[in-house]
Amino acid sequence: MSGSIVLFGPPGAGKGTQASIIVEITGKPQVSTGDMLRDAVARGTNLGAKAQNFMSQGLLVPDEIIIGLIEERLKSSDASDGVLFDGFPRTIPQAEALADITNVSAVISIEVPDEDIIERIVGRRMDPQTGEIFHITFRPPPSEISHRLIQRKDDTEETVRQRLSSYHKQTKPLGDWYQNLGLLIPVDGTGQIEEVRKSVAIAVSEL
Ligand code: ADP
Ligand code: ADP
Repeated sequence: MSGSIVLFGPPGAGKGTQASIIVEITGKPQVSTGDMLRDAVARGTNLGAKAQNFMSQGLLVPDEIIIGLIEERLKSSDASDGVLFDGFPRTIPQAEALADITNVSAVISIEVPDEDIIERIVGRRMDPQTGEIFHITFRPPPSEISHRLIQRKDDTEETVRQRLSSYHKQTKPLGDWYQNLGLLIPVDGTGQIEEVRKSVAIAVSEL
């Protein structure tokens, strides 16, 4: 299938977790703006310094920074047949800028109510060696790697509440925008990880 796929949903919906099955089925590379921003912060770049304050407060990073990052990323040869966007776009101006540079063929929306989000995010842990995402209750890590797992600094209850508020104000309207374009494919994200994975796989196979 040509064009890019967008993985859409609130923070903690399972976008990062479900990205791998879409990559497996489509062969498109995953492009996560959250991962790109954290990498820029860790490397101490100018862009990282600009983004860090917004991220630590749970606010969206300004559109022009994000759009610049994506424009650069899409110049790579591995992006020529489209990519899987994870956590981008998050505002209507970002989606408009994206429409000018690439063709979006589907938006997979992982739907999870707010009441499930806080527990998912506060229990999230990441393996810095592989990038793999675990959860202290819902996806416990193998004991031999549990000592090296890290918790993101912005995965606190207070920051999650702010991120959810940013999501409702700035990102959710984008779901309606994509629905009006006939691109939105809702997937129930409330089941267990394996169940959601099956639903995502079916949705992507039908594209
Ligand atoms: P996002 O990329 O949308 O922010 P993640 O994929 O990082 O979300 O998932 C957030 C947390 O919730 C992780 O700890 C992950 O293991 C867990 N998680 C993901 N999907 C589910 C699910 N279906 N049920 C329970 N926990 C889940
Ligand atoms: P989550 O899915 O858990 O919300 P991400 O890793 O996607 O987390 O994003 C972490 C933070 O990076 C966001 O809270 C926000 O500050 C910033 N960010 C990531 N992607 C975008 C984007 N497309 N637009 C604006 N800010 C972004």
